[in-house]
Amino acid sequence: MLELSKRTATFTDSVIRRMTRICNQFGSVNLSQGFPDFAPPSELLARLAEVSHEDFHQYSTTWGAQNFREALAAKQSRFMGHPVDPNSEIVVTCGSTEAMIASMLSVINPGDKVAVFSPFYENYGADAILSGAEPIFVPLRPPTYDFDPAELESAFKQGARALILCNPSNPSGKVFTREELECIAALVEKYDAFVLTDEVYEHIVFAPWKHTYFASLPGMWERTLSCSSLSKTYSITGWRLGYVIACPRITEVVKKVHDFLSVGAPAPLQEAAVVGLRFPQEYYDGLLATYTHKRELFLNGLDAVGLKHNTPQGAYYVMVDVSEFGYASDLDFCEALAQYVGVGAVPGSSFIGANENRYARFHFAKKDETLNAALERLSEIRQKLPKA
Ligand code: GLN
Repeated sequence: MLELSKRTATFTDSVIRRMTRICNQFGSVNLSQGFPDFAPPSELLARLAEVSHEDFHQYSTTWGAQNFREALAAKQSRFMGHPVDPNSEIVVTCGSTEAMIASMLSVINPGDKVAVFSPFYENYGADAILSGAEPIFVPLRPPTYDFDPAELESAFKQGARALILCNPSNPSGKVFTREELECIAALVEKYDAFVLTDEVYEHIVFAPWKHTYFASLPGMWERTLSCSSLSKTYSITGWRLGYVIACPRITEVVKKVHDFLSVGAPAPLQEAAVVGLRFPQEYYDGLLATYTHKRELFLNGLDAVGLKHNTPQGAYYVMVDVSEFGYASDLDFCEALAQYVGVGAVPGSSFIGANENRYARFHFAKKDETLNAALERLSEIRQKLPKA
């Protein structure tokens, strides 16, 4: 039989997105793939309706519409504490998913090694394979998900020429402190490496934690590709608006890669999102207040059910220890949970480069009523889940 590419044989489809399909099949409350079930801000929807009758239906500039880049540069300059040039330091992509693979392809040669904190968002594994890189996993150890600088240094000593840094971290909810980032920066400088960030949860950082943009640390602007998106910040995961921010020497290359990967992000959606990029600080305070409340609701609910979990410092995921149920495979556990208990979660093993089988990831980016419905179902987990 005619063989398909060797490259694609070494990874599966996304387990996160597969879990959404399984939830749909069983009518489960889907707390697996992280996306909200509440509406985006009304200003964005109103503008989207207008835009459909305006002249935004053809390609925008491949690296992003001028209006969008200017609004994004103004917003990110404010938050990052470093001026971002809208013309030479931004590449607008189809979600941060494209931002990350375009970044990898821009700085990695086949055979290169890339350090990845683990547990990690599953796309990075496939991204590494697609770009021909060999990942070296640097453990973040539960329950605090701290790392050992010696282990990170060992990855660089083994030749890692880039580090993927998801901060706030999916799935662990870890928020890297400034001190930790400075320690990483010192190693990056010492071993002359790039850093590819994934900062899509930059505005979901719970007090007292604070988000520090890695690129804003002294000397790091020139070696950082900051990837992020509007998906989580404005509850528009389906709009697929992401971006890479980097110095011009790097964006020149990312622009080329992006151009041939996808040509451009959807022009009408870029235009409609500009109103969100111009929101005042109150919007971000409100977003954080919403998620602070949801985190409390969901974690208290898990406590009431007696399920052990970590306390996320940022993002909207929680790792639940499901070892008491004794399943040999956390994939089987999550399928049974969706089918018999009616709640969707993602098996923890899909986030790690090692064989481990103890956690399931739930997210709480849902309406309170959805979270309450999930908690009610979870309260019967010990009766309804088939024995392992
Ligand atoms: N980041 C989301 C998650 O971890 C999913 C994003 C996606 O599926 N593209 O669930």
